[in-house]
Amino acid sequence: MSFELPQLPYAYDALEPYIDARTMEIHHSKHHAGYTNNLNNAIAGTDFEGKSIEDILKGCKDNPAVRNNGGGFWNHSLFWNIMGPNSGGQPSGALADAINAAFGSFDGFKETFSKAAATRFGSGWAWLCVKDGGTVDVCSTANQDNPLMDLGCGGTPILGLDVWEHAYYLNYQNRRPDYINAFFHIINWDAVSANYEAAK
Ligand code: MN
Repeated sequence: MSFELPQLPYAYDALEPYIDARTMEIHHSKHHAGYTNNLNNAIAGTDFEGKSIEDILKGCKDNPAVRNNGGGFWNHSLFWNIMGPNSGGQPSGALADAINAAFGSFDGFKETFSKAAATRFGSGWAWLCVKDGGTVDVCSTANQDNPLMDLGCGGTPILGLDVWEHAYYLNYQNRRPDYINAFFHIINWDAVSANYEAAK
């Protein structure tokens, strides 16, 4: 069994004007496809073959090809699913309670998350993670690393923002803070809440 590139749950242009269609098409059909193919090649014939992607991430820190491409496969699979058209706003229910407990308010969360994304030097991701007892935390990791690798805050990511230049450069060039602000208009909080319920 090999990993397959997940289909986008919406059209390439569905996130306009916040993320442009050309960026989405290249990001999904070239970058994510590349991570997927390279992951399959990297695990072929190794002890990783046949394991779940989560188990692979937990045990791959010493294998650069599996670490980079396994992370790339998982991270983008999450990323597409926590965005959507007609989204944005704020979470509700148990996730909102956890965010308020950790950051004081939604605005406090937004500030902390945005800072994590803006200050990640070079390429990487900002994350909202679930930890023991259903508490939430924000961190960032480099490259295609992931907290499931026992990096960053070490929780289970339920929301992630790709801050590699390939994620925003066509539309935003060097203006990463503008891209981060735009992201908040397209977060699908129903999907993030479902991730929270599954992970807590
Ligand atoms: Mn990416």
